[in-house]
Amino acid sequence: MYASVIVQISSKNVDRLYTYKIPDHLKDKIQPGSRVFVSFGPRMIQGFVIEVSQHTDLDPSKIKEIQKVMDIEPVLTKELIELSKKLADYYVERHIKVIEAILPAALKMKSKSVLKLSNEASLEAVNQFKQFHNDKINVKNLTMDDLKLLIPFINSKDIYEEKEFEQHTKMKTRRGIESNYLDARPSSRAVKQIELLELVENKGPMTYESIEEEGYSIGIINALVDKGFCKKIDILVERDPFEGRVFYEDKKKVLTDEQARAFKAINQSIQNNTHETFLLHGITGSGKTEVYLQVIEEVLNRGENAIMMVPEIALTPQMVNRFKSRFGDDVAVMHSMLSHGERYDEWRKIREGRARISIGARSNVFAPFDNIGCIIIDEEHESTYKQNERPYYHAREVAKWRAEYFNCPLILGSATPSLESYARSEVNVYKRLELTKRPTNQTLPTPEIVSMSKEREAGNTSIISRNLDMKIRDRIEKDEQMILLLNRRGYANFLVCQNCGHVPMCPNCDISLTYHKSNASLMCHYCAYEEPMPHACGVCGEHDLSLRGTGTQKIEEVLRDTYNVDIVRMDIDTTRQKGAHEKLLKQFEEESVPILLGTQMIAKGLDFKNVTLVGVLNADTILNLPDYRANERTFQLLTQVSGRAGRGDIKGEVVYQTYNEDHYAIQLAKNNNYREFFLREMEFRKLARYSPYYFHILFTVSSENIEDVIKASSDVHKEIQNHVSKSSIIIGPSPSPIERIQNKYRFQIILKYKSEPELFDVLHKLDTKYSINYQKTKTALRIDVDPEYIM
Ligand code: ADP
Ligand code: ZN
Repeated sequence: MYASVIVQISSKNVDRLYTYKIPDHLKDKIQPGSRVFVSFGPRMIQGFVIEVSQHTDLDPSKIKEIQKVMDIEPVLTKELIELSKKLADYYVERHIKVIEAILPAALKMKSKSVLKLSNEASLEAVNQFKQFHNDKINVKNLTMDDLKLLIPFINSKDIYEEKEFEQHTKMKTRRGIESNYLDARPSSRAVKQIELLELVENKGPMTYESIEEEGYSIGIINALVDKGFCKKIDILVERDPFEGRVFYEDKKKVLTDEQARAFKAINQSIQNNTHETFLLHGITGSGKTEVYLQVIEEVLNRGENAIMMVPEIALTPQMVNRFKSRFGDDVAVMHSMLSHGERYDEWRKIREGRARISIGARSNVFAPFDNIGCIIIDEEHESTYKQNERPYYHAREVAKWRAEYFNCPLILGSATPSLESYARSEVNVYKRLELTKRPTNQTLPTPEIVSMSKEREAGNTSIISRNLDMKIRDRIEKDEQMILLLNRRGYANFLVCQNCGHVPMCPNCDISLTYHKSNASLMCHYCAYEEPMPHACGVCGEHDLSLRGTGTQKIEEVLRDTYNVDIVRMDIDTTRQKGAHEKLLKQFEEESVPILLGTQMIAKGLDFKNVTLVGVLNADTILNLPDYRANERTFQLLTQVSGRAGRGDIKGEVVYQTYNEDHYAIQLAKNNNYREFFLREMEFRKLARYSPYYFHILFTVSSENIEDVIKASSDVHKEIQNHVSKSSIIIGPSPSPIERIQNKYRFQIILKYKSEPELFDVLHKLDTKYSINYQKTKTALRIDVDPEYIM
């Protein structure tokens, strides 16, 4: 038997299958998806078996044998292997890179598989195991002959496999006791001891903590141990990132008519095993999550699994709560803040069928279930679903492929669907389901628009308009809470010399530096370059430096000075630490802090009953970005954040401050008119020939040498032009919006096309050419298929 193996070297040169011989005694252990060790040139490297076959066209005497198998259970399922091939092809990526994205990072790191003896092992197995003089056996150190001896016991589950990570968390253990199962009982006067002994005999081994929780003291435990009824042991506990957390009960609700209609349509697809994509378009707070929960319940009832996608899990503690509360331990949470070991634990729960729902952000779309009954993507329009580095996959596309494979529904939920998805629902490629009302009878707030230019004319130079100021004071008075959004972090946007107009720039990137007050420094948000705040202008030497633009840090100060109240600030700078998001949100809720101030990370998913005011301090920050999706993102952000107000009994108020009060994205967000926005924006996209009318590919050429960039980008341009039809449009080459990042000059080409059958061949050829020549030329070509940003 032969295995086709993809090796774990991220180089275009070796991006193909290599054939190895499978040793006879490993025949049933090496399958597609197995992680193996093979000799490759002079070294031994890790690889993944992609195919297994009886025959080979190569000369068998020249084929090397697989050296080692790393895991007993293959890490990839058949479906995930298929998926990895498709993704590598579509996103013009090396196969191994995609496999690495699919698997948890822990499997790339130094990890080892060890074999251990099960508690119920047969005598024969115990004797065999003893030959190795250890309580665990490292799979990697086994000779093929050793493995041959052990395999029957692995098959009979007398011996099991476990993974250990060298640098990271070991399996955690806790002190505990176990019964010796004597016939004798403690004396009848020792009532508590008898009780506890029975408890331990019924429940099995218990940790000290859990015994104390049941109301028994250490004294009673010790008595049972001293008298020989129990023995002390170490108990293995799974690393549970949600340990000690109380989950609020979230009861199943009777669906409203609209919800019931949506549920019924989706359920039909589940029961009939048909793939269909649904666009669940529901205003904020219309009960989309309730529909998800009930759909998942159906899926579980059929013995199938569900994938629940959220934009960023740290920002959705309330959502996780609801899932945990409904489905308990069936839920695996793929949290981005987990350690590699913790993530791997969650992954393994899924792979081994111990978890049946996985909830998480982008990479959760690869959850290794082998029987998926539905995939749900909440806030499907969010740009975080697209990975901004290699491989550039979009979770929505991946989800579509997987749902097709498993013949199950894909549900895209949003109050503000992406134009692409909504356009597909217009032509019935996706089935649209609408939720137009809130089940709780709360009315949506009607936002007000405040023109900041009129404020200036009236002499108010503050960043807070008079209208918003009045409302803020009113809420503080009434002990109600508010959310203020400013989509710009840092203290000031940039520094400018009043004398000569010089603006300090990043030395590595063509972008001005942002002033951060907390560490009195100027920072680059692209390359993390940092320098101390200068006292004088670097060009003219004058001391007349002034800060322009306003970031969250500065606003926090202004608000504190003006209103003299507590403020919770949430932006990248305050949420770097593990658990920081949750801590801040908890503080806001439990301590009734009047103001939650933050960047767009506060716009999503939060459900606080006491929030009655939302203020958008500068609705223009996104509108002004040089990107064709700027209008769409502005509309989405404004709608999302407005939905945070008035979730309790009191009607909420929303204020948008802007210099572009007549812009349709802002006007239509105010009127909560998605459909009108869609129609308007589609006209613009049609005229400008953008998505969803055209597909896009963004080519970025970069190098430290500007001439090389110009030469290479015109070469790429020529190559594309020679292979696409007249109906496609090529824009560029031209300098990227940020012309230099980390000392590399950047040029871009945008290709807009409708259908180009030969295109992907050309893309792969270009990628190969530039990857292979990179060592020599140091000129890189990045190909981003379906880019989220054209910047
Ligand atoms: P969305 O996901 O669309 O923002 P949610 O599912 O979070 O909406 O629902 C908003 C609020 O309405 C939640 O507090 C939820 O418990 C409640 N809710 C949802 N569906 C119902 C229902 N059928 N009956 C009563 N309350 C509901
Ligand atoms: Zn920089």
